[in-house]
Amino acid sequence: MNHKSNTQSESNLINGSLLAKTLRSQTADKIQTIIRDSGVIPCLATILVGNDPASATYVRMKRKCCEQVGIKSISREFPENTTTEQLLTAVKELAQDITVHGILIQHPVPAPIDKRAAFEAIPLLKDIDGVSSAAFGRNVLGMPAHPSCTPAGIMRLLREYNIELDGVDAVVIGRSPILGRPMASMLINHHATVTLCHSRTRDLSSIVRRADVLIVAVGKPRFLKATWIKPGAVVIDCGYNEGNIGDVDFEPAKEIASLITPVPGGVGPMTIATLLDNTANAAAQQLDIKISH
Ligand code: NAP
Repeated sequence: MNHKSNTQSESNLINGSLLAKTLRSQTADKIQTIIRDSGVIPCLATILVGNDPASATYVRMKRKCCEQVGIKSISREFPENTTTEQLLTAVKELAQDITVHGILIQHPVPAPIDKRAAFEAIPLLKDIDGVSSAAFGRNVLGMPAHPSCTPAGIMRLLREYNIELDGVDAVVIGRSPILGRPMASMLINHHATVTLCHSRTRDLSSIVRRADVLIVAVGKPRFLKATWIKPGAVVIDCGYNEGNIGDVDFEPAKEIASLITPVPGGVGPMTIATLLDNTANAAAQQLDIKISH
């Protein structure tokens, strides 16, 4: 595989922070064009439900990044005991507010809430994390819709590092609707042969061993053992576990992989940069402003 890239250093680490910086700067330019041509400041609304400190930190981080590229951010915060109906009311209000261009419901939401119903209440044009079934289905079919941020950020990383996808064996571990599933369909749409694994998969290590490109999205620290990796494979670690630990046993894995994402500094920054870019694209679309994508 050809891995030559402008952003690649001497090491085999994929530098997500650097690429995210470039993407944020392109997004900031888009935002300036939108403001100049429409007089409107693009706006992202974040919704946070419950007391999960990690989620609160993610929302704060996303709002700060919005400010840095010129996106206005507003936040709606709800207590742990919020009902589905209350959440739906908030989402519907934001859906109808023409000053809001993107809506993000921070995951996870407390278990009793019907998360799917809340996602479905986000209109397609404002669904900047591709969480509704409409956005998901359109992305699977290669039709226009904002893509789910984490897998779309990973696709940018793979493209920037000139990773060949056509015909290669790709293995995705994890089948969540926000990560593993859309990741698998994006890889399929780029002509990889994809195996999607999950907790019921049998003999995972021998499936992993076949992968030229391996995406690990399990949520368990150091889950993926280096001995499972095919020498020379490209390894993308989505995991973000307590203590900044990924889902891949990083130190031994980096000796075997041809390229690997570190945690932190790999997938994470690209997720946020993609969220900002999706918001800019959503605003341009809603305000009928032409920008280059
Ligand atoms: P999730 O909804 O909990 O899904 C985890 C997936 O892993 C499930 O599909 C599960 O299978 C599978 N799994 C669990 N144990 C397994 C095992 N022993 N063998 C094979 N598969 C197994 O998690 P998620 O939201 O997709 O997130 C995954 C990881 O990515 C987490 O660490 C999360 O923090 C991280 N993440 C990072 C970013 C970022 O921007 N860096 C963004 C989103 C998520 P079943 O479906 O069978 O249960």
